[in-house]
Amino acid sequence: MRPAFLFLFDGATGFFVRDDEWNHQFTWYAGVRRAISNLANRNNTMPPDGTFAIGIDVGGSRTRAALVGHDGRVWKRRAAPTQSWLGEGASHVELSPLLQSIDELRRTVAAKPDADVPIGLALPGVLDRAGRIVARSVNLAALEGLPLGDTIQQHTRSCVTVMTDIDAATWGEYLAMDIRPDRFVHLRIGTGIGCGAVVDGRIVRLARSAPGHVDALIVGKIPDAKVCACGRCGCLEVYASGRALSRVSDSCGLGEGLDGWQRAIENRESAAMQAMEGPAKWLAAAIDNLVLQFESPVVCIGGGVAAHLPALIDAALRRREPASGAEGSCGPVVVQASLGDDAGVIGAALLALRRNPPW
Ligand SMILES: [Zn+2]
Repeated sequence: MRPAFLFLFDGATGFFVRDDEWNHQFTWYAGVRRAISNLANRNNTMPPDGTFAIGIDVGGSRTRAALVGHDGRVWKRRAAPTQSWLGEGASHVELSPLLQSIDELRRTVAAKPDADVPIGLALPGVLDRAGRIVARSVNLAALEGLPLGDTIQQHTRSCVTVMTDIDAATWGEYLAMDIRPDRFVHLRIGTGIGCGAVVDGRIVRLARSAPGHVDALIVGKIPDAKVCACGRCGCLEVYASGRALSRVSDSCGLGEGLDGWQRAIENRESAAMQAMEGPAKWLAAAIDNLVLQFESPVVCIGGGVAAHLPALIDAALRRREPASGAEGSCGPVVVQASLGDDAGVIGAALLALRRNPPW
């Protein structure tokens, strides 16, 4: 175990595991993680200059920026509604609040205003061939064609590494694993749904291979499949994203948002549990697809929905087929993401610190 990543384990909240044998092993392991985390927090001294990067994660509703140490520790955060700098169209882009936040974070660690603190910029959507500009973004159309990375680079004179938000979050969660498997899949369920993968220590750049959601996330069957905003039919996003679940919750009288639904499930209200069955079925199918496509022993689930509606993950795991393979072998392990909303900024910053990003 390398001490460089000990700080990443703050906020680890446990694992969703089906198999008893794995459950035993991971319960023990979670205890070790917490113990190490407590020890690590005693050392509160800032590391020396030159070992920081700034991670920026542009989301549909909020833009987050953070100063991150080489060990993955977040030292300072800034967040603002994305609409405060990115309006409905390219003519409504007002970058000064974002650039100001970057300057503030940089001044924390660099005395000179033009000191080089690398920047990782995570953007939602599909990037162009050069990987610098968003070619398509379903939720933030105003980002399309906007040379945000180059503009920030000109302003700060720091190297800006551009990536997709799901790649950044996947990299952050991958590094936060105590034991990093050869193959790793991250499924992120928030307002929308995305997935990323790491194979042999390198990020698989899925968002460039085809427009829309990847094949593994197509779970609905034609002719009944609903059309997703990405243009494909039957994506998991139309059945189990925060947006879709909020609609179900509202139509079942459980209120808007997901907290009321989670509470009703904890009270074992039958209507709430029944409403969970449909989304859980689709989620279970997507998990199986991801395991098959990437031959990954680990599926890490993160995003706001996973955090606010853990009953969905539980219900999906109960529906999955028992692990195949020889008797005594363990199936893939489904773990809960440990970095929360920081996954994107941490992953983006740590990728920016790499001389050659792993893709
Ligand atoms: Zn889709």
